[in-house]
Amino acid sequence: MASGFDDDTPLSKHWHETFDEIFQAFSPDEWKLEPTDRNMPTEWRRFKDGAKVMFICDCGNSWTSMRGIVIFWFNKIGESERKEEVKTNAETEKNNEGKDGEHCEGEASSKNTIHQYSLRFKVYGQQCQRCDDEKFQNPEWYKEEVTKVLKNVHQKIGEVFYHFPSKKPDDKKRHGRPRRPHDSKRCQACSEGHCSK
Ligand SMILES: [Zn+2]
Ligand SMILES: [Zn+2]
Repeated sequence: MASGFDDDTPLSKHWHETFDEIFQAFSPDEWKLEPTDRNMPTEWRRFKDGAKVMFICDCGNSWTSMRGIVIFWFNKIGESERKEEVKTNAETEKNNEGKDGEHCEGEASSKNTIHQYSLRFKVYGQQCQRCDDEKFQNPEWYKEEVTKVLKNVHQKIGEVFYHFPSKKPDDKKRHGRPRRPHDSKRCQACSEGHCSK
């Protein structure tokens, strides 16, 4: 059942590092990336993306798929007052030494709310054709594909919450021509109705 992304594998680290890099653009809002095994409630906004991924089964079989599906859900989960990093009065007075402060209270207070958001994601597995194990194998994601989907969801979130002009998602995939057609019967995303044609 483990999604393979809640542990400390180098790839999981890559998801989180890339996420931190891209999402710091929304600072001081706080965004958190977390894997999920379940679909999130409908009030969460949803963004689906795809990538070329690789599967490696314990039996030694390995295959690539152009239908590595990821679904993101995002939602605001709270807000808090910013911890005052604004200089204390004592300090301000010291710096101003008698001059009237140019400090504008009203302006500062409007920026003092920090919004907290959660970005959940689920990656979909496939079953091995050779050993016909019921279990869905976890996909291995190529680093550049991780970066691509995180940039796409960042753009989507920007459009929804931060007035970004809308842009078509990057749908270029790592080059590859799978040897076999997509095996829908063994695809978790297909079985849950998320795998696009
Ligand atoms: Zn196998
Ligand atoms: Zn599928």
